[in-house]
Amino acid sequence: MASENGVRYGEKVKKKMEAVILTAPGKLEVGEVETPVPGLGEVLVRVESTTICGTDIEIIRGTHVPRWPPRFPAILGHEWAGRIVAMGPHTGGFGLEMGDHVAGTSHAGCGACRMCLTGRYNLCLNYGAAITGHRQYGHITQGSYAEYVVNNIRALHRMPKGMPFDVGSCVDPAGCGLWTAKRAGIHPGDTVVVLGSGPIGAFAFESARALGAGRLIVVGGGKRLEILAEQGAETVSYREGRVPEKIAEMTGGRRAQVVLETAGTTDSFKWSVDCAGKGARVAITGIPENIPDLAWKRVVLEEMDVYGVRANPNCGDEVIALIQAGRIRVEPYITHRFPLRKYQEAYDVFVARKDGALLVNLTPGA
Ligand SMILES: [Zn+2]
Ligand SMILES: [Zn+2]
Repeated sequence: MASENGVRYGEKVKKKMEAVILTAPGKLEVGEVETPVPGLGEVLVRVESTTICGTDIEIIRGTHVPRWPPRFPAILGHEWAGRIVAMGPHTGGFGLEMGDHVAGTSHAGCGACRMCLTGRYNLCLNYGAAITGHRQYGHITQGSYAEYVVNNIRALHRMPKGMPFDVGSCVDPAGCGLWTAKRAGIHPGDTVVVLGSGPIGAFAFESARALGAGRLIVVGGGKRLEILAEQGAETVSYREGRVPEKIAEMTGGRRAQVVLETAGTTDSFKWSVDCAGKGARVAITGIPENIPDLAWKRVVLEEMDVYGVRANPNCGDEVIALIQAGRIRVEPYITHRFPLRKYQEAYDVFVARKDGALLVNLTPGA
């Protein structure tokens, strides 16, 4: 095993790697860049599979510049799985070994601030301060749209060797669904309304079911909603209108005990409270461009709890265990596969939701 500057290599690693490079808002190129070298507490992972996230599309379009990415060129991608091929200094003894299969998540907190120390590293007080060790992969730090990625071991989750990489590449979005359900708190038998039939909606549905929800109603549209129906969801098409009224009718006027908002549209943001019943818990992870006023009077008089949800802290290992146990399903939602170099085609399919595109999977170096 070769060792260079304190980095141990488990196999020969190419000097240059294939990557999808964002050179300016809306401008993507498939090209070659230098393979990165892991630093303190970091490992190099061969990316075997990566999945497109709705947030990537917004970042590519330039909606969040200069927050994400802070500069160009940038390499996005934060939903992925791969194999550890090199280990930097101070990575031993944490339970990860050379060759391990790992799934990535985007946030690596500084590990030392109050939010990190209380387990809320997704809210790290040193966000963006690279000197403290804080990273957000695929947002402000190089992501997984490449053959290799460097990650702090804090952001990695060990996968069982038998778990397929394309399933592992969904640990991040599945974790977002799980965190949304956990923030709201699902009690056994609860009637849960999930707003949105995209990837996070699908995983919020799976997670709520795994946590013991009774009735599960998903509000969405098109082929994506049909896929959710095939997986056992009761469905309401937002395209037919009267969404809150329909939820009220379906629940004998009581509405939902829990609402999970994942669609991020102005309407669904508003419906998050409109579909909620007395004493309901509402968790919101989507942010629309135009934020509507909510029915605050009902929130107060009906004692609702409203929770903001950001990413998926501490959910990676839990999601892997739930997938392994068959209680969160991933495969039915993987609708498309492409080699990474065909990113533009994959992007178009995802954006147009062609054939109900939900999880669009990419293989680097294929
Ligand atoms: Zn994502
Ligand atoms: Zn921190």
